[in-house]
Amino acid sequence: MRTTIVAGNWKMHGTLPEVQRLAKQLIDVIPAQESSPQIVICPPFLYLMMLRELFGDRASFHLGAQNCYTEPSGAYTGEIAAPMLASVGVEYVIIGHSERRQYFGESAEMLARKVDAALHAGIKPIFCCGEPLQVRQRGEQNAYVQQQLQESLFHLSAGQLQQVVIAYEPIWAIGTGVNATAQQAQDMHAFIRAVLAEHYGQQLAASITILYGGSVKASNAAELFACADVDGGLVGGASLKAEEFAQIIRACKLKSS
Ligand code: PEP
Repeated sequence: MRTTIVAGNWKMHGTLPEVQRLAKQLIDVIPAQESSPQIVICPPFLYLMMLRELFGDRASFHLGAQNCYTEPSGAYTGEIAAPMLASVGVEYVIIGHSERRQYFGESAEMLARKVDAALHAGIKPIFCCGEPLQVRQRGEQNAYVQQQLQESLFHLSAGQLQQVVIAYEPIWAIGTGVNATAQQAQDMHAFIRAVLAEHYGQQLAASITILYGGSVKASNAAELFACADVDGGLVGGASLKAEEFAQIIRACKLKSS
């Protein structure tokens, strides 16, 4: 049985009062006990500790960071290391989001090192992959995603890969309001699982959580999550609205039950 996850990527949104308000709204609409799916909140770094305090002993909330650096410590002004994140209770870290690749020039090789750094600190990477629109239009999305996996994940041992969550996020669907169809998502997720099986065997591939990300909303979540190989979602914009995020979580619960 794979872990189902709904993760909210808050990106660079929210001043302190706004984030406090959102966190309180989430506490009101999301059950406190741990259940399926696992809920992972990924705020900007500086709110992580505050959220840990606000969420208190609510087992349903897990914390994720949006990035980490490749090195465990040192003279890297402005960066945040994976052991620092672990020390404040962070369990997941998003690595390889297309915005990091595109705006901050993060290469496949750097992402491989970030994955290593996270795993070394005991944090589970949520590794993002996904093709731009032109690649999809040429019908080359499978080869593109396969290469992303190959370059940044396939140096891992089977035991390490077991700790990784994969998020398929077609770039043309991120923040655009245009989601992949359920069929497009299912096809790519099944392909990713087949590629994992080729390298690591069927059993391991069947156990890896693969999330879909790209304009997931309350209105499309149930259809996307109903796909056999979609194990939940990485949600951007809709995770900033407590009631809508709660509806997305409920849509995933239908799958988990
Ligand atoms: C994301 O940022 O990972 C994302 C999927 O954003 P959105 O849901 O807004 O498309």
